[in-house]
Amino acid sequence: MSMPAGPDTGPVEGVDTSHFLDDELVWCELRRSAAVRGRPGLFLDRDGVIVREVGYLHTPREAELIPGAAEIIRAANAADVPVIVVTNQAGIGRGIFGWADFDATQARIHDLLARDGAEIDAVYACPHIPGGHAPYGHDTHPARKPNPGMIHRGIDALAIDVGRSWIVGDRMGDMIAGHAGGLRGGLLVDSGIGTTVRDAAGPAPESPFDMRVVASIADAAGIVAEMVD
Ligand SMILES: [Mg+2]
Repeated sequence: MSMPAGPDTGPVEGVDTSHFLDDELVWCELRRSAAVRGRPGLFLDRDGVIVREVGYLHTPREAELIPGAAEIIRAANAADVPVIVVTNQAGIGRGIFGWADFDATQARIHDLLARDGAEIDAVYACPHIPGGHAPYGHDTHPARKPNPGMIHRGIDALAIDVGRSWIVGDRMGDMIAGHAGGLRGGLLVDSGIGTTVRDAAGPAPESPFDMRVVASIADAAGIVAEMVD
């Protein structure tokens, strides 16, 4: 598999950034040389959490930040809490769009966040989906949420203090992935896919995983202070 290429990406001045598809064809990207290792991490789903859910977002002009997204990311940046995006991108596996579209859309999102002084430290994207086109058709790929493969990649890359880390997502699958990845807890936002179509199964009640439901990422900012307490 060749390296994905997009029109708007490349090294940010003074920052050592790189992205590649790993041996499981998962997009792996470290963006911020200022990222501090050994810290709790803030894992964020993308669609419905950072940007409006539009269904297979893949064009830069459709990317619109959800109010509060830049604020929590900025707060994490200030607290030396790495921000790690973990996003299922089934549209790639289904052949609806390609990595170049993903790359261009990501560049737009990073640009919008940068205008608000917010920087994402790492991005992981999983193209695999049951029934997807080869080589992306997998019934239960370990990187596709609710599996924790992308979270594990972030933990490894940034030596994340997993027991103090949280995830913000709009699907129960995000919470299950966070639980399976050993995170401390998850914030389930109502700003994305919506409660009515969420997966039914969640973390077991006896789990130490702390799950809270909030309206949107705008109500999640306090978690950063809690993480570094
Ligand atoms: Mg989502």
